[in-house]
This record gives sequence, structure tokens and C-alpha cells, in this order.
Amino acid sequence: MSASPLDTQELDRMRPPAEARAIIARFITAMPVEHVPLAEASGRILAMDVTAREDHPPFPASTMDGYAVVAEDSSPWREIIGTQNAGNMIDAEVTDGYAVRIMTGAPLPPGANAVVPVEATELAEDHVVIHQEDVEPGENIRAVGSDVRAGELILPAGTRLGPAEIGLVAGMGVDPVPVSRRPRVSVLSTGDELVEPNQPLGPGQIRDSNRFSLVTALREEQVEITWFGKAPDKRDELERLLRARLEQDDIVITSGGVSMGELDLIKAILFDAEDVDVHFRRLYMKPGKPLNFATHGKTLIFGLPGNPVSSLVTFELFIRTAIRRMIGVAEDRIDRPSLRVMLTEDIEPSDRIEYQRGIVRVDEQGRLVARNTGMQRSSRLQSFVGANALLVIPPRERTYRAGEQIEALMLASPLA
Ligand code: AMP
Ligand code: MG
Repeated sequence: MSASPLDTQELDRMRPPAEARAIIARFITAMPVEHVPLAEASGRILAMDVTAREDHPPFPASTMDGYAVVAEDSSPWREIIGTQNAGNMIDAEVTDGYAVRIMTGAPLPPGANAVVPVEATELAEDHVVIHQEDVEPGENIRAVGSDVRAGELILPAGTRLGPAEIGLVAGMGVDPVPVSRRPRVSVLSTGDELVEPNQPLGPGQIRDSNRFSLVTALREEQVEITWFGKAPDKRDELERLLRARLEQDDIVITSGGVSMGELDLIKAILFDAEDVDVHFRRLYMKPGKPLNFATHGKTLIFGLPGNPVSSLVTFELFIRTAIRRMIGVAEDRIDRPSLRVMLTEDIEPSDRIEYQRGIVRVDEQGRLVARNTGMQRSSRLQSFVGANALLVIPPRERTYRAGEQIEALMLASPLA
């Protein structure tokens, strides 16, 4: 990408996060559909509507263990002519004066139109005595198609296949299941100072933490992590690694090397590459100001800032959402839910929209209250530990006072 000074000025304009999200959304292409065995479909996103092929239940089924009878028969004594278990169909017809012992889920034998539960009966040799005043036709029977009607929409495309959804899909006889392919994602940590977590530190060195926290965040989403590693601030090595990833992955994530320093090579490499388009590289937010977003064909490239909190906050606001859009997650499940919460402590605003790591809980009066997790410096990963929300603090002159309402993006449920 080459650019005139004017283009560069626009590229470096500090964009509000909402504008950045809209830009990213424009470059997202939907993942293709693939069919996976039902047993491996847990958590995947349904790529097509599932409609019922058959009625469910497919036969009138008993909801109780008891006796299948003719409801209108007024005599309390019935002769037992057989037992109807679930899973087969006995050859017996129920008429006045007769009953068939029946189990929950078993098909109603011909002639019967009600089930009297065992609790309302008494057994006397080959007879059963019914201690129930009126037996209504249809009592304790699930009619054909009363749970699901053939042709009914069961699950729309975009549904995440959790336990109930997988059960429904199985019940409808859909195996394999059409789901969207998982985006292929790689993570590259960059920096001369980085060593492996199991290594001692030399002078000026720190351990690479971003690679591992980003991979962990990615594993919460439906992606295939194709590669993760680290590299020093050497231009040719970084270029070689990036090239390889750009050809194979749907999303390439890098950490570090996007600020204003001489060795901030990711920024330079993306900017200089002929076949890469950079769409923005500065945001009106804290932390995460130097986030770079670029594309290579359909591949999305996120150059995250190196500070551990910055990389996780930008992942949360931009990458998680992008992944969910790519795999077609239903619109109302893409963003973290936003709640109005009441501050219990003062917060000092900054000069950009700040996303403070916070704890939201429900107080004794049932109100949602929030505080931050202490010191919010972008190198202090401890500020993310135990946080269940990002507290959105827009810039302003005055302090945010305890008792004020602010917006919280919920990362998990409020604490009790
Ligand atoms: P950079 O964005 O490369 O200028 O890095 C900003 C800060 O984040 C510096 O203090 C780096 O040492 C630190 N940093 C960069 N990458 C990592 C990483 N993978 N893990 C932990 N800290 C990092
Ligand atoms: Mg660096």
C-alpha cells in the first residue's frame, strides 16, 4: 500500500471505536458451510435453518406409567390384556372393560384414548381397579406433533449448538450438521525483549505473555488456531512469517510493533506491502490507541499493541466480534451485552474513551453496581483478573462520581 501524505493523515486519524468496528465489518466475508458429524458439532454455529422433517412425537405417546383405557368406559374394573413398553407396538386393541398396562413414552394401543396413572389404580390379579372419578379423553397423552410439527422451523441459521440445540438437531434426524467453517487464525508475538515463559530473564528481557492470553481468548470462540509463535524485531524474519500466515489464514493477529518506535516493524511492514491494505491505525480509545487493521484479500490482519492489557481489550472489542460475524452468529449474540451500572467509587476520566476493567455486581437492593479493578495501567494484567466487565468511561472535564450511572460491557454475568 502506498499513500500520499493526505491519505496518511486520514489513516492516522484517531477513530472512535464504533467507527473502527464499522470499518472492520465491511471487510468481513462469511465462512463457507461445512457438514460435520453431530457428535463433533458441539458449540458450532448452524449455517442453515433446521426445519422438522417429521411430527414429534411421531405417535400418540403416554406421559405416565399407568393403564391405557377407553375414557368413556364407566366401570372401575378392567381386565389387563397386555403390556405396552416404549419402543415397540403390541398387538392388542383396547375396548370397554379392558386395559393395557403402559409405560411413559410408549405408543397408545389402538382403541385406547386415555391413560390412567398407576397412582390412581389398584392391581387385583388380572384386573385393575380405577380409583378416579372421571377419565377425560386425551388424558396423559402427548398427541402426534404436539411437541414439534413437521415443517416447523426448529432452529434458525446462526444458532450456537449448545446442549438443547444439539438434542433437537439429533431428534430431527439431522446428522451430519451444516455449520460454518471455523476461521483459521494465527498469533504472532513480536519483540526483541521476549523470551519463553519457561526461560530465565536476561538483561532487558520479559516473558512473552500475549501469545498465550490471546490463544486462550481465541479458544473461547469457534476458530481453528493454525499457528502461534514469537519473533524478534527483525524485518525480514517478520516479513517471512507474516507472508506464510497471510496465504493460509482467515485472520492473522500480531502483538507489538505498532507504536511510534523505530523498531515498530509490523506497522511498517503492513504499510509497505503492495498487496496489503491498511484501513486504520489509531483509535480514540485507551488502552489500544495504536491498533492497526489491514486486509490482504479476504484475510483480516489485526496488529495489536504489545501491552498485555491493550492487546486483550482490543481483542475483546474488535476481534471477538469479527470472528462471530464471520461465522454468522445471530446478530443479537455478537456484541457483549451493555448494561447501565452505578459506580460505587469515583473514576477519573482520561483524554480518550477508556475501557476500564471492572467488577459488576447486584447489591442488596437489586441494583447493578460497579467498581474498577484498581490501577488501570495497560501493562498491569492483574487489572483483568476477576473482571467481569469493561467499564466505558468517555472523556470529560469532571470526575465520574460514585452514584453516577455508566455503561458496562459485560464479559460475564454480574456477581451476586
Ligand atoms: P510494543 O507495542 O511492541 O511497543 O510493546 C509495548 C509494551 O508491551 C512494551 O513494554 C513491551 O515490552 C510489552 N510487550 C510487547 N509484547 C509483549 C508480549 N508478547 N508479552 C508481554 N509484553 C509485551
Ligand atoms: Mg515491541
